[in-house]
Amino acid sequence: MRPELLFDYFADIERLPGIGKRTKPALERLAGTRTVDLLLHRPVGLIDRRYRPKVADAVPGSIVTLEVTVVEHRPALNKRTPYRVVCRDSSGDVILVFFHPRPDWIKKQLPEGETRIISGKLEHYGDQAQITHPDYMVDPNSPADLPLLETVYPLTAGVSLKMLRKAILAALETVPALPEWHDSALLAREKWPSFLEALKQLHSPDTLEDIAPNSLARRRLAADELLATQLALMVVRDRTRRKRGRVLKGDGRIRKKIMAALPFNFTGDQQTALAEIVSDMESERAMLRLMQGDVGSGKTVVALMAAAAATEAGVQSAILAPTEILANQHLATIQPLAEAGGLKVALLTGRNKGRPRQAILEALANGDIDILIGTHALIQDDVVFKDLGFAVIDEQHRFGVQQRLALSAKATAGIDVLGMTATPIPRTLTLTVYGDMDTSLIREKPPGRLPVDTRVVSLDRLSDVVSGISRAISAGARVYWVCPLVEESELLDVAAAEERFVALKKLFGGRVGLVHGKMKGTEKDAVMAQFASGEISVLVSTTVIEVGVNVPEATIMVIEHAERFGLAQLHQLRGRVGRGTDKSSCILLRTNAVGEVARARLQIMRDTEDGFLIAEEDLRLRGGGEILGTKQSGLPEFKMVDFAEHADLIAMARDDAKLIVAKDPELKGERGKALRHLLYLFERDEGIRLMGSG
Ligand code: ADP
Ligand code: MG
Repeated sequence: MRPELLFDYFADIERLPGIGKRTKPALERLAGTRTVDLLLHRPVGLIDRRYRPKVADAVPGSIVTLEVTVVEHRPALNKRTPYRVVCRDSSGDVILVFFHPRPDWIKKQLPEGETRIISGKLEHYGDQAQITHPDYMVDPNSPADLPLLETVYPLTAGVSLKMLRKAILAALETVPALPEWHDSALLAREKWPSFLEALKQLHSPDTLEDIAPNSLARRRLAADELLATQLALMVVRDRTRRKRGRVLKGDGRIRKKIMAALPFNFTGDQQTALAEIVSDMESERAMLRLMQGDVGSGKTVVALMAAAAATEAGVQSAILAPTEILANQHLATIQPLAEAGGLKVALLTGRNKGRPRQAILEALANGDIDILIGTHALIQDDVVFKDLGFAVIDEQHRFGVQQRLALSAKATAGIDVLGMTATPIPRTLTLTVYGDMDTSLIREKPPGRLPVDTRVVSLDRLSDVVSGISRAISAGARVYWVCPLVEESELLDVAAAEERFVALKKLFGGRVGLVHGKMKGTEKDAVMAQFASGEISVLVSTTVIEVGVNVPEATIMVIEHAERFGLAQLHQLRGRVGRGTDKSSCILLRTNAVGEVARARLQIMRDTEDGFLIAEEDLRLRGGGEILGTKQSGLPEFKMVDFAEHADLIAMARDDAKLIVAKDPELKGERGKALRHLLYLFERDEGIRLMGSG
């Protein structure tokens, strides 16, 4: 399926020099294990080794390249003192400092009496110039061993800059040029290099400007990434829209009953969203709408009203949720209201097996179920509706295109689809992430919600926080305690949470519970139920406490190492409290070692609870990269785009993608075929499967 020319781009990195069984897992965490993952691992800076002063003139603190004679080795006297090597040029001495070097290695690197070119960061101790662990020590007869400009990449434990750089440069030599996918007029106007040329410039730049966001190479690659994203969205949208819509026009009788049973009135935003949705349903066009709103903003009840309208119009509805916890919660919110309207609701998850499952399937096929709520289990082949006409997909970005379409395929006569998300997207990004999908926004909070008192506290004061919590739980409070992300390994997350659990258990005994992602569904539910009923007071967890989990009695949220979380994620976690009638608080524990941006980000959390504002500010501070903790949120990841610098490219990519899909929806023409390469390279290829081969 994947074009042959991409073979080398997708080859395993193991075949590159310097990458072995040990380094591969580290690289997998950092970038990925395919050649293209390394090629798209973007340099974030440059080390300039062109400063070649005399020892006596060298500015302390700078990266220097010195030509010196090795004078004398002074081995370490004991374990605590370093190994020193005295070197000299015509202006003075510089000491090279090593901790625990292998004696034979260091003798060979720096033979006494020989000349060496040394590069590293020069520092002064008193009057003495020294370099600790120089980056390079090369023989002047092979100066090529010393790169004068070196790219700097984001790293992770187990990956050194030297090794990564070497692998990336080697990778560039293994891949072929690709057919051009950009329009030739655009290319000429922008003066962009080819894709491969742009990668080469990025990884072996001549100046700092070459890797800046506005360099030609970087703009080209950002445009590539944006075009891939927009094209993928357009292809899927085109497929969905081509399905016939269906006029779903109800008479309002069920909606009226449910409204009467609601213990509150809809907010203005809820009313508007519902009106937009109903108007889409009543039209002939297939609905493809996304309802965005913070956790607790009341999306579920809006979705229920839309489902009620579908029932009035004579069709069944499905509500797809990403996890069992969320599916259960939707059922709990919806069931009592649905009953008031005379709607029949059922839940189908992976846990329904055998006879009970069969009974649900039969009722569904007979039309005895109006609304089926469930997880991925809804998508299985043997789940057959009598007449599905309306689907709600909660946290829609957590489902793949295939899954979304598989659900739609259960409708025989057209379907209206409503996505929901509680992940706020900055306005500038809506287009990039959702294309021109219609959106409804719920920004207003239901009345009567108390603001959450948010504090940023240093981890040094952990014991104060713990005693505060001790007092609070004695007074009956319930507390969420979220443990940090450790690298990107779920296992390590779990270990951190377990450690905290054990520590808190020593203090609070049986009042502490633990949930994490490695537990079985039934175990998790049992602990959650204990927390909901108040049997336990403190719930220690990894970030597994999902969006939408609802325990209104919980009033305290502690987040450890808050600086490691994306703002959107902090916002969603904080949304777990402040749901009841009691005043809530959120404590963001941070290390002292956080930088300026991290500080500013946590400050935003303190200052506002508006998810959209938080998202905008986060984007402004980070300028893109891993927006919103995308890895956790399931939103697409951008490697080359800087949303502050490349704003003009977004609209350009959208217009281009629209045109392409209008002209060549199957991507079969010459440019279409080139574009298929692009979609694979940036992992936006889901849509290609929809087109069949060819
Ligand atoms: P979301 O799905 O956006 O997270 P829900 O629909 O689950 O939010 O609503 C959260 C809680 O707020 C529910 O208990 C719901 O009954 C309640 N709620 C929803 N809309 C309103 C409203 N307009 N006024 C008061 N409470 C509301
Ligand atoms: Mg909800």
